[in-house]
Amino acid sequence: MTATTKMVYRLAEGSAQMVDLLGGKGAGVSEMARIGIPVPPGFVITTEASKGFFELGRLPDGLWESIVENIQMVEEESGKRFGDARNPLVVAVRSGAPVSMPGMMDTILNMGVVDETVEGLGHLMGDQRPAFDAYRRFLQGFGNVVLGIDRKRFELLLTEAKQRHGLQFDYQLQPDSLQTLIGDFKQVIKEATGAGPSQDPWQLLRQAIEAVFSSWNNPRAQTYRDFHHISHEMGTACVIMSMVFGNLGQDSGTGVLFSRSPATGEKVLYGEFLVNAQGEDVVAGVRTPQPIANLAQEQPGTYQEIEATASLLEKHYGDVQDIEFTVERGKLYILQTRSAKRTAPAAVKIAVDFVAEGVITREEAIGRVVAGEVSQVLMPRFDLEAKQRAVGSGALVAEGLAGSPGAAAGIAVLDPDRAVQLSDQGTKVVLVRMETSPDDVHGIIKAEGVLTSRGGMTSHAAVVTRGLGKPCIVGCEELQFNVEERSFSARGKTVYEGELVSIDGSTGEVLVGEIPVVPPNPDDLAELQTLLAWADEHRRLQTWANADTPEDARLARQYGAEGIGLCRTEHMFFAEERLPHIQKLLTVAPEASRLAQDVDTLRALARNAPAVERETLAQRMDRAKLDLEGSVSVREFHESLAKLEEFQTTDFYGILKAMQGLPVVIRLLDAPLHEFLPNHDELVKEVALFSVAGADADRLAAKKRDLRLVESLHESNPMLGHRGCRVGLTMPEVYEMQVRAILTAAGRLTEEGATVYPEVMIPMVSHVNELQWLRPRLEAVVEEACKTMGVEIILKFGTMIEVPRAALTAAEIALEADFFSFGSNDLTQMTFAFSRDDAESKFLRHYVESEVLPWNPFTSLDTIGVGRLMRLASEEGRAAKKNLQLGICGEHGGDPRSIAFCDALGLDYVSASPFRVPVARLAAAQSAMGLLKPS
Ligand code: PEP
Ligand code: MG
Repeated sequence: MTATTKMVYRLAEGSAQMVDLLGGKGAGVSEMARIGIPVPPGFVITTEASKGFFELGRLPDGLWESIVENIQMVEEESGKRFGDARNPLVVAVRSGAPVSMPGMMDTILNMGVVDETVEGLGHLMGDQRPAFDAYRRFLQGFGNVVLGIDRKRFELLLTEAKQRHGLQFDYQLQPDSLQTLIGDFKQVIKEATGAGPSQDPWQLLRQAIEAVFSSWNNPRAQTYRDFHHISHEMGTACVIMSMVFGNLGQDSGTGVLFSRSPATGEKVLYGEFLVNAQGEDVVAGVRTPQPIANLAQEQPGTYQEIEATASLLEKHYGDVQDIEFTVERGKLYILQTRSAKRTAPAAVKIAVDFVAEGVITREEAIGRVVAGEVSQVLMPRFDLEAKQRAVGSGALVAEGLAGSPGAAAGIAVLDPDRAVQLSDQGTKVVLVRMETSPDDVHGIIKAEGVLTSRGGMTSHAAVVTRGLGKPCIVGCEELQFNVEERSFSARGKTVYEGELVSIDGSTGEVLVGEIPVVPPNPDDLAELQTLLAWADEHRRLQTWANADTPEDARLARQYGAEGIGLCRTEHMFFAEERLPHIQKLLTVAPEASRLAQDVDTLRALARNAPAVERETLAQRMDRAKLDLEGSVSVREFHESLAKLEEFQTTDFYGILKAMQGLPVVIRLLDAPLHEFLPNHDELVKEVALFSVAGADADRLAAKKRDLRLVESLHESNPMLGHRGCRVGLTMPEVYEMQVRAILTAAGRLTEEGATVYPEVMIPMVSHVNELQWLRPRLEAVVEEACKTMGVEIILKFGTMIEVPRAALTAAEIALEADFFSFGSNDLTQMTFAFSRDDAESKFLRHYVESEVLPWNPFTSLDTIGVGRLMRLASEEGRAAKKNLQLGICGEHGGDPRSIAFCDALGLDYVSASPFRVPVARLAAAQSAMGLLKPS
């Protein structure tokens, strides 16, 4: 920055395009000034100036002079003078970053009110009370923000003053009490800093600007930026505007409104206002404001003007606006406007409605909704019957405002630090507070939902939770807190911290106890369906789903899945009636396999042996065959397999039927084998228990056998051990059984007239030889099964690419596979050498917080490393086999940025859990339209 760089812009000089330089707020008011909306006179100090301030540790050269010049211009426009005893100009000094960071940075109001000007201000206002009130507010704000004095010290004095006079509201304090309060506030400042506040308004202004710049780097702003992935480099602008006063009497007031409901998207003015009050009263949630609709009766003229201005702003920006306004003696001023934060359901409704109203095109609508958020539209709600029952039995203890939709249940916690602690231990918590402030954000992030007794729809708690997609109830004034007892009461019931509560953020109801939450009815999601149907016209990528049960498959299909990209079969073995069979199979498998191997070995020996030895070998082989045929282990092995085959056939029949007409990729068994066995430590205890004299000898023998088996299957690194195709190779009968079950199910469905497309996927392949060994065996099963059933079923065989070696040798592997599906969970695990089971709980958070990694690579693809392997495998795989089908079925298949990467790679489909299929549909469209870039 040079001395000639323009660091200050008058409002009329700026525009909405200048967000980076003037911040969101600065660009917003400038644009309003430009299009003729009534805004108070003012100017904006640029973000570049703040960066200069951070670099130098002081205001850059020339900045102060520009500020003084611009104040003089505001003086001219307003006809008032800064620091003038009789006709004082009073300004607001506001922070405003290029990205919205609600409540995270500081603002100082009533700048210019000092001992010398306060009476003159009173004169201008025609009343001393609001002038003294402005002065005490200034001291309170300046003392807290600039001088760092705990705001509670001021609040306590204010509360005491009201109590002394038996008053309920701040504005009821009369000039003499306010003067006393001002004296007390000055004393607090003197005690804290050693000197009373300066009486030079210019010096105060300079300090305030420096404090606003510095607030960019306060800890809560930094935490917020970390959490929302906002760059720390942008800096903040500082907006200085002439103050307008909403506290000049009953024809004055201040409010915040949304041009449509930010909770539901409904087309009504939505917001609240306070008569005879200043803006911070609304935002801080200290007094509960009245709904904006009341203004229509009380001040119809003003209401109509607000309505017309809101509609003008909405049309001008082509988006729902979040507007702050003040009415000074019947004259409306708009202080700021910005695109409103909204819940995901509201975002969808607004986008669809705007298209119907001709405000935006369908293509714009697709870009208006954050893809990652649309699964919130499918958010859980309370089970209606369970809730009705709970209400019937008196569980409803309070009702507040529906701050952010959705339902949550958890234990009530009254403190954000404890909320973090408990949630880190795996407990679900609902944060219950009188009101929240930016200092509570860490607790809000960890809570299932938030409940506050104060504040309105635009209070901190409501705004933050809506952004996070968490349920929230605000303004629940019935709640009486008992801080010592850590409890709150309402309607004669007391809830202690640690007890279960349920909150319905869509209705505002607070209930004691835990009410089960259920998924929403997809039929209710007409707007989402409309938007997704538009998105479908633009996307290239297909969206498939990961589903293991017919119910999941049906759900996925309702959400628009075009196939099943991953049906994990190991889950099917865990059911209670199935587990004994897989356990029996594993118990007898070693003996069965030894006997089978003996026959194979002797057969091989006989083939190559000299003639003289052949007869003896033939006799030995006959004996081995007899042993094999007569073996109990072998019999039990086949019985268990047959039983499992029955179960599997039913499973596959259900899924294939639910997905008729669409492909279903069924993955053969993948889990490490010990997962099917009893817990080792439990068994050791049981063996000890049954070893005492007189205990059941049979049970002891059984437990000992189980223990031997568990120990024999024990692995140090099961994730890198005997799983996936390695089991297929050592125990081919299991994979053969699964393929036979798929064929039988498909054959039955074909006979019933259904068209089904099963595909077989082999997991954990690292070497082409594994496929070369397995595929012919499995194809032989297909051939035989088709012959037996008299049907023709084409079964595709593919493999997961989830081991780096497989990716590196994709060209060879492609020759043996009809498709690749990227198992990006394991591929990430093995590429980073980060254990999937441990990394996230042990160190990954620390890596992300300390910016060693830009994000968690298990959530969003590491496109540079893991992505490089995927690119290589895709390119070399397709070079070897042109029509090789490519997909992804790891968790990344439902992550928008990863989806954009997969789109760029040219994959055929992404596969994600059913409720993320809508996310994938929208993200794939946004990617195709260039609206979403790979990370
Ligand atoms: C993967 O590794 O990405 C995958 C889908 O398989 P799983 O998570 O079952 O190991
Ligand atoms: Mg895997």
